[in-house]
Amino acid sequence: RAKADGRNALRCFAPEMNETARERLELEGWLRRALELGEFELHYQPQVTRSGTPVAVEALVRWRHPSLGLVPPAKFIPAAEESGLIVAIGEWVLAEACRQAAAWYRLGQPIRVAVNVSALQFSRPDFFQTVEQALSGAGLDPSLLEVELTESLVMHDPGESARQMEQLRALGVRVAVDDFGTGYSSLSYLHRLPIDVLKIDRSFVAELEAPRGTQALVQAIVALARALDLMVVAEGVETDAQLAFLNELGCDLVQGYLFARPMPTREVSAFLTMHGTSSTEISL
Ligand code: C2E
Ligand code: MG
Ligand code: MG
Ligand code: MG
Repeated sequence: RAKADGRNALRCFAPEMNETARERLELEGWLRRALELGEFELHYQPQVTRSGTPVAVEALVRWRHPSLGLVPPAKFIPAAEESGLIVAIGEWVLAEACRQAAAWYRLGQPIRVAVNVSALQFSRPDFFQTVEQALSGAGLDPSLLEVELTESLVMHDPGESARQMEQLRALGVRVAVDDFGTGYSSLSYLHRLPIDVLKIDRSFVAELEAPRGTQALVQAIVALARALDLMVVAEGVETDAQLAFLNELGCDLVQGYLFARPMPTREVSAFLTMHGTSSTEISL
């Protein structure tokens, strides 16, 4: 029975489907229970330097469904956002990511953790407290946490975003703009926003080898980041050719299947043991 229920629920996770109100309620119930039952887990994908040293890992949430297996975020984040459950899920993600980063630190593998934050979560008046609590609860140095906000979230209300980013940075937390290039950044805002990192969306990285001017675009983003004194991370790096382009363009960090897929904790620990961590990149 659980299996059949799961199938039905999963059917309406597909964002392109027109869910009925009843289906949405059902799904919301499944997500709520998943949270209570501890069925969410975090996988982590390394961000590495030119020389291949990991300096950060991005936390990516998955739902370990008892009969359906590992459900990717694209299948449930949109529903979680619509129902508001993303706030509770996001709170768990922050706390768990901080706990894990603190554990790696204590094991002598200091690595920064990057956490995705959704618009609804970020807009909550208590978001800053949630971050503070996650850090203090884990005993994690704030400089080992990076918050990823999408470009569209940031540009939706640049003034308010800037105010909240400033608060986070005062604490020592780093701020990254995710999926950069896919939204509509106003350059006049961008230079005033308290940002540390630009993450080039993987759609651009995927097109680097195509003769379509994408190289010039990525080059422009890297130049922009340089001018604003920001770090640039390219996501979705899959091939040596893409890596060569990105290195030539001066991209600081790369993340993608070429180095590692998002991995469960144990595999990440092994990866860090094998490749080391760069403590010089991390200011404590
Ligand atoms: P994102 O933050 O842009 O994360 C990068 C996505 O690209 C991840 O997908 C990652 O697995 C995938 N990726 C990384 N390298 C490669 C590559 O070389 N090739 C390809 N084809 N893909 C690559 P994932 O884990 O499925 O997550 C998808 C999106 O779900 C994330 O995009 C993020 O927007 C959202 N998400 C994930 N975890 C969380 C979370 O804890 N909270 C919130 N609010 N959103 C999350
Ligand atoms: Mg991200
Ligand atoms: Mg991204
Ligand atoms: Mg993306």
